[in-house]
Amino acid sequence: MNLTLHLTENCNMDCLYCVREKSPKDMTEEVLIKACDLAFSKGTRAGLCFFGGEPLLKKDLIFRALDYCTEKSAESGIRFDCKMTTNGTLLDEGFLERARVSHMGIGLSFDGTTQDVCRRFSDGRPTAALIEEKAGLLLKYMPDSTALATIAPQAVPYYAQSVRYLHELGFKNISMVIAYGKKVSWTDDDLDILKEQLSLTCEYLKELFVRGEKIFVGPVFSKIRECISDRNPSERCHLGVRQMPVTPAGDLYPCTSFIGDRDYLLGNVFDGIDRTKVMEIAKKASVPESCEGCALIRRCTNSCGCSNRMNTGDENIISPLQCTYERMLIEASDALGEELYRLDPVRFSKVFGESARNE
Ligand code: SF4
Ligand code: SF4
Repeated sequence: MNLTLHLTENCNMDCLYCVREKSPKDMTEEVLIKACDLAFSKGTRAGLCFFGGEPLLKKDLIFRALDYCTEKSAESGIRFDCKMTTNGTLLDEGFLERARVSHMGIGLSFDGTTQDVCRRFSDGRPTAALIEEKAGLLLKYMPDSTALATIAPQAVPYYAQSVRYLHELGFKNISMVIAYGKKVSWTDDDLDILKEQLSLTCEYLKELFVRGEKIFVGPVFSKIRECISDRNPSERCHLGVRQMPVTPAGDLYPCTSFIGDRDYLLGNVFDGIDRTKVMEIAKKASVPESCEGCALIRRCTNSCGCSNRMNTGDENIISPLQCTYERMLIEASDALGEELYRLDPVRFSKVFGESARNE
């Protein structure tokens, strides 16, 4: 099974849009080992995602988990996969060497040219120059790593520029998401700019397609891929079924935005998972009522319980911001997809058919 390990609630950065409650709580080795055992307890694959706060503050725990799970995998024949989301400030050659051996998938949170607008150290120092250097190091060891950019309203005029910058740094996988939560506030003007920026980004992606360059930019490419493979993005959300977070104390919840709400507590790494409660909660997730009858219902990420809960307080109610964003994203992606298909149908099928198969 797949678990997201919150190795610490601490972080050395203080991003403007951060939704995590920070504290000095770290996971103990005892909880870590129990969590690893739990990951191996069901199915033919054990997956761990190292998460935080900032997971690299607890490198010792990551090394311990890698050693333990590698051994367990060899003994049991169960495949072990791992990934990590990091702010990158503490990446070094020793860690990357070990991560490469374990085939760890690394997502580097990096906002491109607007890094210093929102992503600073806790004492206010900028991080852009350091993260640019760390990105080079990461790509040297693991060229398929992903840059994860979170675009807040302050950064939206630089969205397209940031995609170009990240690609020119060497990232072939880029994820652009907009910032949600109580700390950000989107105006209609910001959303107009976002629409223009999506269109500029699509122009750039078209340029790259024509030049035959390899790139994957989510969520634009995901929308094209889902459209041609007739997959419904809403079906990706299975609260607590596919990927359960584990808190530093070892408690299990359906998804990160439910952490701390005892009504959603699914068990802990010592006593195991309450399977009845998991199924009860998974069944509660449904398509928002406000979406009934909408033509985009099968194209829209409208029922991600985690983001709905963060934005509206209810896993089954979507925010107007997300509805607007989904509409503009689908429009921009469809226009790009049609254009790329017209330009080169064979290559289009290869690029999007392949990425669909690889997911
Ligand atoms: S690096 Fe991540 S956890 Fe740390 S402040 Fe930024 S968003 Fe929050
Ligand atoms: S576009 Fe809005 S109304 Fe339509 S399915 Fe998506 S969230 Fe629901």
